[in-house]
Amino acid sequence: RIGTAALAVQVVGSNWPKPHYTLLVTGLCRFQILQLLKEKPYPVAEVEQLDRLEQFTNQHKSEEELGELSEQFYKYAVQLVEMLDMSVPAVAKLRRLLDNLPREALPDILTSIIRTSNQEKLQILDAVRLEERFKVTIPLLVRQIEGLKLLQKTRKPKQDDDKRVVSIRPNRRSNHIPSTTEDEEEEEDHDDVVMLEKKIRTSSMSEQALKVCLKEIKRLKKMPQSMPEYALTRNYLELMVELPWNKSTKDRLEIRAARIVLDNDHYAMEKLKKRVLEYLAVRQLKNNLKGPILCFVGPPGVGKTSVGRSIAKTLGREFHRIALGGVCDQSDIRGHRRTYVGSMPGRIINGLKTVGVNNPVFLLDEVDKLAKSLQGDPAAALLEVLDPEQNHSFTDHYLNVAFDLSQVLFIATANTTATIPPALLDRMEVIQVPGYTQEEKIEIAHRHLIPKQLEQHGLTPQQIQIPQVTTLDIITRYTREAGVRSLDRKLGAICRAVAVKVAEGQHKEAKPDRAEVGEEDFLLLDCKEHVTEDAKSESISDTADLALPPEMPILIDFHALKDILGPPMYEMEVSERLNQPGVAIGLAWTPLGGEIMFVEASRMDGEGQLTLTGQLGDVMKESAHLAISWLRSNAKRYQLTNASGSFDLLDNTDIHLHFPAGAVTKDGPSAGVTIVTCLASLFSGRLVCSDVAMTGEITLRGLVLPVGGIKDKVLAAHRAGLKRIIIPQRNEKDLEEIPMNVRQDLTFVMASCLDGVLNAAFDGGFAVKPTVERLNSKL
Ligand code: ADP
Repeated sequence: RIGTAALAVQVVGSNWPKPHYTLLVTGLCRFQILQLLKEKPYPVAEVEQLDRLEQFTNQHKSEEELGELSEQFYKYAVQLVEMLDMSVPAVAKLRRLLDNLPREALPDILTSIIRTSNQEKLQILDAVRLEERFKVTIPLLVRQIEGLKLLQKTRKPKQDDDKRVVSIRPNRRSNHIPSTTEDEEEEEDHDDVVMLEKKIRTSSMSEQALKVCLKEIKRLKKMPQSMPEYALTRNYLELMVELPWNKSTKDRLEIRAARIVLDNDHYAMEKLKKRVLEYLAVRQLKNNLKGPILCFVGPPGVGKTSVGRSIAKTLGREFHRIALGGVCDQSDIRGHRRTYVGSMPGRIINGLKTVGVNNPVFLLDEVDKLAKSLQGDPAAALLEVLDPEQNHSFTDHYLNVAFDLSQVLFIATANTTATIPPALLDRMEVIQVPGYTQEEKIEIAHRHLIPKQLEQHGLTPQQIQIPQVTTLDIITRYTREAGVRSLDRKLGAICRAVAVKVAEGQHKEAKPDRAEVGEEDFLLLDCKEHVTEDAKSESISDTADLALPPEMPILIDFHALKDILGPPMYEMEVSERLNQPGVAIGLAWTPLGGEIMFVEASRMDGEGQLTLTGQLGDVMKESAHLAISWLRSNAKRYQLTNASGSFDLLDNTDIHLHFPAGAVTKDGPSAGVTIVTCLASLFSGRLVCSDVAMTGEITLRGLVLPVGGIKDKVLAAHRAGLKRIIIPQRNEKDLEEIPMNVRQDLTFVMASCLDGVLNAAFDGGFAVKPTVERLNSKL
């Protein structure tokens, strides 16, 4: 229970990369613990001071022996100090101290100078009696002197700057001194650095990289470990060693096999698969990777990412996904310079380190969601990555040496091309991936999604059965999306609910319990509830042979759906909303797929103003003005009048046009025909047919111009249960993309001018009235 009292003089260190502190203290005296007062949060004890210098100097008892010992000690100490380089000021000062200090203080001071293990140091601190202290320290001094002599002998030819070595490492093996953990750690670290150097030399990195690494390792060797830069440099070197400079997987490209993999993994999406196969075929023939970067553009959940994964699978390459959504700092792509604390390589280099080969498939997900910020433009950084002419010497800021990316196969995905910077778009070949039809979704669900969900939930087809009508119900009543992601989630919810029932059933099977009988009628089907009740009363009164688990397979019908997923979220509301004049259905394209959009109009007394609501962009506002102008100029032809019977539609009248879903910004010219139809209905007082949807841009002279996104729009109309679609004449060619079964369900009206649109939109047509001059009585 002996300790040393000391005064903390200096604390240096940091918490990063790992807590590492150096404490400099001045020892005051030894003490003994008399009583421990408390232990937490730090020990507090009553202590007694043990060594007081005066006390020892006043002691006469063993003075003679001590004198001899101290004389001997002094001699060794002088010998040791004189072996050191006296030109170093600290050594000269030490020499002076030897003479000036009381001899009793010397053992403590010299122990702190010579090389000793921690255990030996503790032994000396423990030695309270002066005599003992001298006795313990002398062998250490002698050992140090011998060590120095040896060192000087072996390094004679070199200049005697070795003398500066104040302490040398004791040769543990020859002296049989037990090693301490601290020493071990140091040695380990040293070994690590040597290993690292070996790894660097044997790695296949480029010449330039090798040069940089060797320079860094030289610096590392000289650096004290407590320096934060030590960890930085080491991390850097470790990354350099780990990077796959020359490691690659062998491509196994066989187009027939690729076709099978793509077909097996994905249903439908023929156009995309065809283009991907072409791309792969060219690469097989040319064996050269230079070519455009594929970019899949389409709504979420249509399988863009998973096609990317399949491509990697067909090529036998590693796959890595880099999510770029929301990335607004160019260092995310290119890395931080190493001068930063916490600097790291960019995502490309990190990805390479993760996959461990230099020819993976990198999927750059959501390139349309890159954002600019004060930290630079990440899209600009991507330019270099994606350009086959430049990317063989891609330089990450962190690495600071070029890395060859030309073997990497990049594939990008996006929801829309509108927000991809033009320069980036220019380097990519865009492949549109439109949404799915209901029939395709049903097939995808039954071929891919349901089996996957069953497996994830530990269910077998013998336990659950989801008929196609149920899938259709989920698709039409519980989801409204272009892709299949939310359908997948709903199927997941069903599987979870069934898993509970199955697990409960197994439990009951194990322990048949009469009281629970009857509950086995799974999923509380609304319409069957009374049957369940009957069964219950019967079974309880009857024998226990009805105590069976739920009937397998559990059939999911509409009632079960309602039970699990709640009441349907979407109903066919279309016809209800079209029972007043002044409403028409338009078709809109959004990054999330096509959508139907109700356009509403109303008029009121006023001064001829037009109010537009529903977050519209400039182009859409212009369409509204165009539509009104056209109708005003054609009011007589169509016998359209305002409330007071005047052909000047805006005379004493205000018009309000509203595009619902006001939270979403809408823009684009394709609502033109819808606005015209809606206003024509308002001014004529006639209802627009409730099963008609339309899209098309208008001109001031009443022509209908083609628009984009026809497939998505038509699919949306089909999803919503509409029957007739008015599209611009010049979009007729786009109908080829639409699956046959959808086309069969719908009637398409091609319109080249607004007359045609109005005729198709109203029951019985919207014929131009022959302008018979009516005589107005002036009596
Ligand atoms: P995206 O990247 O387009 O948003 P994902 O690739 O993540 O969509 O696809 C979502 C899910 O839908 C995946 O589990 C995928 O397997 C499935 N999926 C999408 N399209 C198909 C398809 N045509 N055939 C089979 N599964 C599909």
